[in-house]
Amino acid sequence: MAKWAFIEQALADLRDKGLYNTIRTIEGPMGAWVSIEGKPRLNLCSNNYLGFANDPRLTKAAIAAIEQYGVGPGAVRSIAGTMSLHLELETAIARFKGTEAALSVQSGLNTNLAVIPLLMGKDDVLFTDELNHASIIDGVRLTKAKREIFPHRDVETLALQLEANRDIAKKLIITDGVFSMDGDLAPLPAIVELAEQYDAMVMVDDAHGEGVLGRHGRGIADHFGLHGRVDIECGTMSKAFGVMGGYIAGKAELIEYLRQRARPFLFSSAATPPDVAACIAAIEILEASDEPVRKLWENAKYFTAKLQALGFDCGHSETPITPVMLGEAKTAWAFSKRLFEEDIFATAIAFPTVPRGAARIRAMLSAAHSREDLDLAIGKFALVGQELGVI
Ligand SMILES: *Cc1c(COP(=O)(O)O)cnc(C)c1O
Repeated sequence: MAKWAFIEQALADLRDKGLYNTIRTIEGPMGAWVSIEGKPRLNLCSNNYLGFANDPRLTKAAIAAIEQYGVGPGAVRSIAGTMSLHLELETAIARFKGTEAALSVQSGLNTNLAVIPLLMGKDDVLFTDELNHASIIDGVRLTKAKREIFPHRDVETLALQLEANRDIAKKLIITDGVFSMDGDLAPLPAIVELAEQYDAMVMVDDAHGEGVLGRHGRGIADHFGLHGRVDIECGTMSKAFGVMGGYIAGKAELIEYLRQRARPFLFSSAATPPDVAACIAAIEILEASDEPVRKLWENAKYFTAKLQALGFDCGHSETPITPVMLGEAKTAWAFSKRLFEEDIFATAIAFPTVPRGAARIRAMLSAAHSREDLDLAIGKFALVGQELGVI
């Protein structure tokens, strides 16, 4: 039909430009190894940093919650969907993060849609890092506030922008904690100092820092010792926590305001009982032990050191996100395809997700990987790297 022609055209364009995304299907649980096309493959692509996605302690908690609470919340939180489990999770998050209060929402994406439009009106100004996550960009797009986009991690420009806007009363600085494509950290101590100097609010989206940075994985504010100085911490339960869901942590008034007015809280149903119970279990595991976090970092350091010794460029990551820089998109795709033939699942990332000429394989390390897994992957990177003339 003619009215659909534009979609056919758009899909054809994506194919022509080599931007068509072929999505692989996982035929079993998420773990260090996953089954794809009927065969086990070593998984280097997931955000399952701590191996919690199929941890029996989490699955047991989820099953018990289904037996006690059923599968669905039945309503949005504000009408009939708040179960005692949701409150238990919020107490656990606030305790874990060291904040006065916390709010659980359905996803990390929704945290940004909840907070940014609620806090920022047309007379306000927000400051946002140019490489912030798409969900922050979408949150910003839902406001009529003035926007100042600062170059990546550039606090000098941020200072100039704050100075130029000093007469605007309400200011919000927003940054990712860990930037997901390069694994570098926001300069949060400098941002917090500027915020204090200019009386601006600071919001950090800690999606890739949760369970990874700080004591027992408490996140980037803990990593930098900034407790009480970051106004709004957002995060996800879908990465290191291995489940699904989002949270916002901060002052009690902020959380109360979100409860009253945030649109994803008011207009989208609550997280499901099994998800919430599994999230609580994940937090309790981390409170009791930092073993999974230590294992994650050991694995990441081992893997990066070995790849660098082979001559690979691993960028400037400060976290277990390990970019293996390959330059042209074609090289990255060929590399990923060859790895897959060798049963290593590691997706290529190219423009427009990263700049042109900065295509890469992004290897995501996990506490679930054994030393043998890593040695196997390193051997295959060496093999393919030599085949393709990268090293
Ligand atoms: C992954 C990610 C999200 C989205 O989290 P979901 O829980 O999957 O919706 C939001 N913000 C950042 C910075 C992320 O990396």
